[in-house]
Amino acid sequence: MHCGDPTHLCARCLDDLFTSELDAVRARGKAWADELAGSVPGIDWPTGSEGLAIVARLKVTDLGRDPRLLERLARELLDAAHTRWLSRMS
Ligand SMILES: [Zn+2]
Repeated sequence: MHCGDPTHLCARCLDDLFTSELDAVRARGKAWADELAGSVPGIDWPTGSEGLAIVARLKVTDLGRDPRLLERLARELLDAAHTRWLSRMS
């Protein structure tokens, strides 16, 4: 699936793995937003919250070992959760 060190992927493997996990992280982001909406309904999405960023990173740790990959996946997960949150509000 990838060449060399899984903790330091080449640019191409990084992109490939990122793309192959996109659907999974988006689904996790949506499920997370639904979960949050059940426990803290009616609040604005806490954009830029460090707590949220940390949880998002924890939700992707099983998807790879390269920190750059995990960072990109976590950001994508957070975006998907935010989008889902906004769509629930409207
Ligand atoms: Zn590679």
